[in-house]
Amino acid sequence: MSPVDLSKLSKFYKKTNSEKIDSLLQAGVISKEDATLLSENGLELPDEIAGNMIENQIGRYSLPYGVAFHFLIDGKDYAVPMAMEEPSVVAAASFAAKIIREAGGFRTSLTDRRMIGQVALKSVPDVQKAIQNIEQHTEEVLSRANEAHPSIVKRGGGAREVHVRLLEADTIEDTPEFLVVHLHIETLEAMGANIVNTMMEGIAPYLEELTGGTALMRILSNYATECLATAECRIPTRLLKHGSFTGEEVRDRMIEAGHFAWADPYRAVTHNKGIMNGVDAVVLASGNDWRAIEAGAHAYAVKSGQYRALSRWKKDENGELVGTLTLPLPVGAVGGSIGIHPAAQFTKRLLGYESAAELERIIVSVGLAQNFAAMRALVTEGIQKGHMGLQARSLAISAGAKGADIDKVVNQLKEAPNMNLATAKDILENLEN
Ligand code: NDP
Repeated sequence: MSPVDLSKLSKFYKKTNSEKIDSLLQAGVISKEDATLLSENGLELPDEIAGNMIENQIGRYSLPYGVAFHFLIDGKDYAVPMAMEEPSVVAAASFAAKIIREAGGFRTSLTDRRMIGQVALKSVPDVQKAIQNIEQHTEEVLSRANEAHPSIVKRGGGAREVHVRLLEADTIEDTPEFLVVHLHIETLEAMGANIVNTMMEGIAPYLEELTGGTALMRILSNYATECLATAECRIPTRLLKHGSFTGEEVRDRMIEAGHFAWADPYRAVTHNKGIMNGVDAVVLASGNDWRAIEAGAHAYAVKSGQYRALSRWKKDENGELVGTLTLPLPVGAVGGSIGIHPAAQFTKRLLGYESAAELERIIVSVGLAQNFAAMRALVTEGIQKGHMGLQARSLAISAGAKGADIDKVVNQLKEAPNMNLATAKDILENLEN
């Protein structure tokens, strides 16, 4: 994205839809063509595309598509799109990004982008001999994999490593022994499910020959431990002061909250759900497979044998709060629905990302921002105060309020002793009478 004039975006949430589009244009966030596209509802999925994406398609299910501001990631500005049904998430992301921006922004790092494919072999007669045989023929395994998908090799990618894992039989659970062969594959700009699956199917008969076993299945693993993204932020305590809490108190309470989520799976799941609020929203907006990212992230959270917090919070030698988040992020910049969904295409232009690696950097930063906002609220005023303001809007609409009545119901609901649907309906009825 070109330099953004953030002053044009102030009080964005208060603007009408057409004012929002106009201010995005004025601020240099979107082009004229995209302003027209947005004003003509152009992010909707056309029927003919929807009908060709899944089987038995009978309609389209829409979600709000919002934008979070203030993200400064590795020195670059981003307006971050989020497809999301939950109130408060976009606001929390923007809020956190603003504080982290003042602290210098997010810094990210990535491992190589290598996807993992598996062939699971059963009934291998001599496991040690089979392992030895595979290890002696790794070059041949790699070249057969690459022959199965030559176009990715032409692009500069392809199968790079072979690993063998022995899963021992479990007499208690009554599961047999499996010999599992992994390929680590560079799928470049694609998430690569189809590339990986084609390669694994391509090498399975050869692995059967080498091992004397039978290939039970050949499939990519969504536990993408060779495609990790890390974001870090460092926040001075002067930016953490909140209400009656000093910056030092907020910092220390956030670190303690991190320890709690590290130690307790009951807390860790909720802690990580908050991270995934941001991650999923961007993954979905970018047209990527959010089930793949969800499954991999939760598996990564349990890598030590216990389900733990995905993020870590600590204090550095200067007393600053340091947050880090590492996630497996096998997202693509091409493939799947990315090239055919108009909203995913718009996301690409809005973020201006040039590679899948850059998209990884953005997504992991949004996850950390979301985590920061949730933890800061939880250790100070609690999340209900902010959340219920937006919840009031959903209740007002559920109660049947329309147009100007929505704001009137929301305002009265915020003052009411019980903020629920029944109260919203009573307020609306009184207004109508
Ligand atoms: P696609 O097969 O749709 O797209 C990948 C293809 O894009 C490549 O094979 C390549 O084909 C082409 N391509 C063009 N430019 C590039 C580039 N620069 N780098 C890499 N490839 C490029 O998608 P994926 O293989 O990425 O699979 C993603 C889809 O698979 C998602 O929809 C996902 O939901 C689904 N899926 C997920 C599974 C899972 O997660 N377990 C399992 C099965 C499917 P070429 O070189 O021939 O032009």
